[in-house]
Amino acid sequence: MYIVQIASECAPVIKAGGLGDVVYGLSRELENRGHCVEIILPMYDCMRYDHIWGLHDAYRDLWVPWYGGAIHCSVFCGWVHGRLCFFIQPHSGDNFFNRGNYYGAPDDHMRFAFFSKAALEFLSVSNKRPDIIHCHDWQTGLIPVMLFEIYKWHGMWNQRICYTIHNFRHQGVTGADVLWATGLNNDAYYYHYDRLQDNNHPGAINFMKGGIVYSNFVNTVSPHHAWEARFSDVGCGLNPTLDVHHYKFGGVLNGVDNDIWNPQTDRYIPHHYDKDTFEIKAKNKKDLRDRLLLRDIDKPLIAYIGRLDAQKGVHLVHHALYYSLNRGAQFVLLGSATNPEINNWFWHEKHHLNNNPDCHLEIGFNEELSHSIYAGADIIVVPSNYEPCGLTQMIGLRYGTVPVVRGVGGLVNTVFDWDYNEEHLPEERNGFVFFQTDNHAVESALGRALDLWYQNPRVFRQLAIQGMEYDYSWNHPGDKYISIYDYIRDK
Ligand code: ADP
Repeated sequence: MYIVQIASECAPVIKAGGLGDVVYGLSRELENRGHCVEIILPMYDCMRYDHIWGLHDAYRDLWVPWYGGAIHCSVFCGWVHGRLCFFIQPHSGDNFFNRGNYYGAPDDHMRFAFFSKAALEFLSVSNKRPDIIHCHDWQTGLIPVMLFEIYKWHGMWNQRICYTIHNFRHQGVTGADVLWATGLNNDAYYYHYDRLQDNNHPGAINFMKGGIVYSNFVNTVSPHHAWEARFSDVGCGLNPTLDVHHYKFGGVLNGVDNDIWNPQTDRYIPHHYDKDTFEIKAKNKKDLRDRLLLRDIDKPLIAYIGRLDAQKGVHLVHHALYYSLNRGAQFVLLGSATNPEINNWFWHEKHHLNNNPDCHLEIGFNEELSHSIYAGADIIVVPSNYEPCGLTQMIGLRYGTVPVVRGVGGLVNTVFDWDYNEEHLPEERNGFVFFQTDNHAVESALGRALDLWYQNPRVFRQLAIQGMEYDYSWNHPGDKYISIYDYIRDK
């Protein structure tokens, strides 16, 4: 099959979170299976150009219709660790992708509506006719709408769309301007409950709703989250739309890229290991301590890696940190916050704990350091409020770092409690799970993990090794996406 992925991220060149990992990892898996995959991305000024090989202009004069006129763009092309990527660079005063950040600008809706329009225009004029266009998250929600309302009439009637929702919280809710800009200029038609009208704000349109209504198949990134999205407030108002379209909606667990996240080959960690040489992991722990100036002493090391925001249960992360220190453990945090209050809060904690030899807070995004932490820590905490899939617990498992998680979304599908589990045999269990959102709940699960580490290190080691035996690679999700593509191709 010929598959084009269109997204706002692709790791490692553009990565703000799990979306980037998924776009890269899935593309690689599909190519390994013999499919032809291309990726279309915005050409941000702040992306990691050092991860692109052979960057050159592939299409100089792309004129993208915008409002009544057109914006001149160049399309660059290069390889990101073997994946063929096209980068769209508009030449206009709007400077859509020269903002020093991927997200967070007041005109994000316009920026990504433009990107979506440009990606389709590029496919159309360069005569690319993929079997499958795979779009991701709200940023590309208008692509299925424009494909079936506009580009279908420009020779693209055979293309089928798979739309993956990585986070229901951000849906792209905005006003009518975007419709006029993109050529969907029939307000009455699109402001309809069955099309793009936002379910909660009748005066607004919703990109993600458009994506759901117009795509041939829609999925979120774990089976449990698919259920939550339909039947709980995690659907963030889209529940009725998912109900109407339930026949084409499902959940596919994300995979973890084995080439990037593999303790046997990871180029960012000094000592390679696998489950048969598990004791070598301790050398990485020592290295991590040296690097972060933590004292080297016989204590468990607990880590948190992830965005610092409400979704990730930031108050519980904070509590886990102090609880761990009180229990005589060490704690390493790697996280970045876009919310200024949360950012200030953690900077304050960082200063407060600066001289503590058992604690290190690294505020910012640091891919290299994240690998060292996965390899060096004993336990990783993931106390999310909601978690569509979650990669950090799966990466942790891969590195023999025992996850302590809240039982929501994809965490339910991937972590199985050591003590309390009716569905999994003891030899299938791999972590600790709690369910409530209060401090006691974190303490109960983290406390059990620490008790096991202190009181029964041999069993703790066994639990870590059991986690390493899980195959959360792209192998199974690869099969699932191929079945989806096959299914919609025949429609
Ligand atoms: P989300 O997509 O909601 O941010 P996921 O758990 O799905 O969360 O994916 C997070 C990915 O981003 C993981 O690969 C994790 O290692 C990485 N990551 C998150 N925060 C940081 C950070 N501050 N520095 C480096 N990597 C990070």
